[in-house]
Amino acid sequence: MSDRLSEIKRDVAIANRILAGHGVLDALGHVSARSPVDPTHFFIARSLGPELVTPADLQEFTFDGREVDGDPRPPYAERAIHAGIYAARPDVLAICHNHAPSVIPFGITGLQLRPVFHMAATIGEHIPVWDIAAEFGDTDLLVRSREQADSLARALGAGRVVLMRGHGCAVACATVQEVVFTCVYLQVNVHLQLQTLSAGGEPRYLSSGEIERATTTLLQPLTQERTWTTWSQRITPSDA
Ligand code: MN
Repeated sequence: MSDRLSEIKRDVAIANRILAGHGVLDALGHVSARSPVDPTHFFIARSLGPELVTPADLQEFTFDGREVDGDPRPPYAERAIHAGIYAARPDVLAICHNHAPSVIPFGITGLQLRPVFHMAATIGEHIPVWDIAAEFGDTDLLVRSREQADSLARALGAGRVVLMRGHGCAVACATVQEVVFTCVYLQVNVHLQLQTLSAGGEPRYLSSGEIERATTTLLQPLTQERTWTTWSQRITPSDA
């Protein structure tokens, strides 16, 4: 296995564990990465709780949901989310789908989720909400087909975050580290925005220019490496 392949599998395992530790993922939800060898494939764990994922649990999929190595272990039902977004967005190399309860209020009301502090700038200024019922009627709300995932990807557009009404969200970025960073601070921003609104305050949101400049700062290797290294230390070192 190439070094790059080993590295990306290790990073996906670590990302699952970091986000489980932050309460972004619980027993469900998942992180994936586009294959550095074949950009039409991606790696995602077999159906397993995120905090249990090791590199050996990763499976390789095509965008039509086929596992390429004949691995008989059951896959995640919602792997189509990843396939649909990778197919639509060549710039996206890593994705997290999660059910973080804190984001739900913004998907079920007209309340707009927006950055209120600088660390959350990477979530973007305009965060779309995708409602599965709009195109697919009554479902169990899970994204089970490429058709549904393609619809979700259209709602995501060119952004990093799309909320899924009554379900959770998807976060799509250029690196696994950026996905973890954006998921962690998305959740923090949600808490801060809701706290402010609950206290009767009207938040002063970051301006477009502030979001753009803060994003540039936050995506520098210095910030990305420091957060990743720090958060990685909190998971059991020998496991990942
Ligand atoms: Mn889900």
